Amino acid sequence: MLSAILPYYESRFGNASSLHWAGREAREALEKAREAVAETINADPGEVIFTSGGTESDNLAVKGVAYALKRKGRHLITSSIEHPAVLESFKALEMEGFKVSYIPVDRDGIVDVGKLEGEVRPDTILISVMHANNEVGTIQPIEEIGDIAERRGVYLHTDAVQTMGKLPIDVERLKVSLLTISGHKIYGPKGVGALYVREGVEVKPILHGGGHEGGLRSGTENVPGIVGLSVAAKYAVKEMDETVHRMRSLRDRLIRDLVDQVPGSILTGHPVKRLPNNAHFCFPGIEGESLILALNELGVAASTGSACSSRKKEPSHVLLAMGLDPVAARGSLRLTLGKWNNESEIEYAVKAIAETVEKLRGISPVTR
Ligand code: PLP
Repeated sequence: MLSAILPYYESRFGNASSLHWAGREAREALEKAREAVAETINADPGEVIFTSGGTESDNLAVKGVAYALKRKGRHLITSSIEHPAVLESFKALEMEGFKVSYIPVDRDGIVDVGKLEGEVRPDTILISVMHANNEVGTIQPIEEIGDIAERRGVYLHTDAVQTMGKLPIDVERLKVSLLTISGHKIYGPKGVGALYVREGVEVKPILHGGGHEGGLRSGTENVPGIVGLSVAAKYAVKEMDETVHRMRSLRDRLIRDLVDQVPGSILTGHPVKRLPNNAHFCFPGIEGESLILALNELGVAASTGSACSSRKKEPSHVLLAMGLDPVAARGSLRLTLGKWNNESEIEYAVKAIAETVEKLRGISPVTR
């Protein structure tokens, strides 16, 4: 990936909007990247809009559809366990007078599809449900929700930031109108992402300016980042079967050994319908933050809550929505495997977690 990006930092400084040779060189790279990203999700290149990442893509999808269709209706549907980039976009729309239904999830984190369908009204303009959850890894029945959206004539957006390279993504099969991806979850650069917008789907821009990206996302395109994203996406899909097979077997061992060796550990999320690299536990009686800090000292990089909100003190909104009690939710541990993890790292992590949990249980204020 680096060798593909470097020329655009070293010598090819053209702006993709310029008409001279340097601009054309950049435009060519940009359009090649668009084709490559489109191919990974079975879309047409013209349906891919480059953005600054998952957060911007989610904002553009949710707010962009709301603003484009507000004359048709002002009701939107989402789940209660979305990433903050989606949830906070809906909260912002509520402040502007839009109505939002938040669909509950079951104990495993699966959205209640029956309830979702029951919430669709004549003025519903968008459903947004994530492909897989970033904390507990639960995979949502997007195809089933896509059937409902199609039948009821409502746009469906899915946040697929967590699933690229882990699950097949085919926008036709999923029946989505909009889909979010991000570079940094697929070993690509940070600060770059894309939004798939099906041809004909109405979206209003949220960034105004020179009308780049078909008028949907103004601002000079980040050519090196976009090239990096396209290479990363290509590799993520090409290597998916092999990577997923390896990660899943390591992850299964991690879960088995942790449940065996740490008394009272609760595996959170769906036992089977979960991302192949995700293991999530609750250890009642433990403060998640203390566990993470102790593990960090032992060289184990883990998180509690979601990576972006683990500095917050409150229990995760995802775990609370799944019905976990707040005390158990505060003792959460998320372990995410990377494609380079190996057996001995799993063994080491299990040992480190077992010892740390035992130690903390002796002193944790939560148990007192
Ligand atoms: N959506 C999900 C599911 C995520 O996990 C993340 C970040 O990790 C985002 C959106 C935000 O993406 P970005 O960090 O590229 O803005």
